[in-house]
Amino acid sequence: MSVFNLTLVLYYNNPNPATMATNSFILTFLGDVMLGRLIDQLLPNHVDSPTDARKAAHFKSEDPSLEPTKYTPSTPWGTTLPLLRTSDLLLINLETSVTTTSSPWPNKEYNYRMHPANLAPVLHAARVDYTSLANNHILDYSTEGLIETVWTLKEAGISFAGAGENTDEAYKPAILYLPRSLQEYHSRRVDGEKVLSTRWSQQEREVLDAPGTGYPVYVYSASDHPQEWGATVPNFHFIEYSPATRERLRKLLMRNGSAAPALKIFSVHWGSNYKWCPPDHIRSLAHFLIDECGVDIVHGHSSHHVQGVEVYRGKVIICGCGDFVDDYVVHEKYRNDLGAVWRVIVTGEAKSLVLDRLEIFPTRIDQFRANQLDKSDKDHEWVTEKIRELSGKLGTAVRNDTGDQGQILIDIR
Ligand SMILES: [Zn+2]
Repeated sequence: MSVFNLTLVLYYNNPNPATMATNSFILTFLGDVMLGRLIDQLLPNHVDSPTDARKAAHFKSEDPSLEPTKYTPSTPWGTTLPLLRTSDLLLINLETSVTTTSSPWPNKEYNYRMHPANLAPVLHAARVDYTSLANNHILDYSTEGLIETVWTLKEAGISFAGAGENTDEAYKPAILYLPRSLQEYHSRRVDGEKVLSTRWSQQEREVLDAPGTGYPVYVYSASDHPQEWGATVPNFHFIEYSPATRERLRKLLMRNGSAAPALKIFSVHWGSNYKWCPPDHIRSLAHFLIDECGVDIVHGHSSHHVQGVEVYRGKVIICGCGDFVDDYVVHEKYRNDLGAVWRVIVTGEAKSLVLDRLEIFPTRIDQFRANQLDKSDKDHEWVTEKIRELSGKLGTAVRNDTGDQGQILIDIR
């Protein structure tokens, strides 16, 4: 038995929570991760797209760091990689389809896809545990492309929610686990390598499989656009701001009753692009999710730029994470090249996880990679002041001091 699993056994066999050591975990959230189009052309495998290949060749000719030997599956994560790899769980919004299918969804302005052979190497490099699929690009190559995306994620041992092979798979939560050793056991993956269950002894498996072991974390995903997919694709989790949607969400999220998970996360692609403040109907839905559906963390994305944070009744609403990595043109006012690594620090108690604080590490997309910003960088100040201003409008204070790596701090409890 490894030391880690032995610790797990001792920890969960201890019947008295008061004598347990403090058990702190880091949940890391990223906004849009768009690995298609030019990034796909820079990675080792590419879908067939002569136009994108030509554009990528132009960038490569001007920047040697984009050459194939330099731009590897780890490169899109840039200098954030150590931060990502030290998380206990890493959750992202995957803003592209993963397919070689060549039939795009018709009459859509942008259609993204990445080669399936890139997915596992890139996501395993950062130790991604979960991807949200309810967004406005997951069906860019139609249902066939979505199904290939889902199969590729399953093969890679990465959890997902928000879209799937059928309605049930789209709506139901991904079930993750803390501590990380338990998550690795359930995903059958350690350090990016798929491992066989023979890695664990019979005794270890009995402990890890026992009811009540560890902290189950449920993650749901939904999107409020595109309306067309909501109307025509049953295996896409579409939501509206209507009483009917609320009733459905209440039933879905409260289905487990007393066997509730230790933590419930709702990851949602919502709102208009390039709007600083979420409108009232979005705030109201977020409050509803916390008040009536037992949600602890609302992981919002879609706007392309950072938005504010609202701490609400001991829970947290991240309105918009901003884009994390992509190949987009930069909007000078909204600075969609600036985003963040969002970490929620939680403490394990007897059966639940309590939210302690939010730590926000500002990032910038430079040459198709996400880089963590130093506190002395003027863009770090830009992100800090923007989050301070926008969170203030939602009644939430950003601390005046920063963390040891210059991270922005927001207390939750
Ligand atoms: Zn989007």
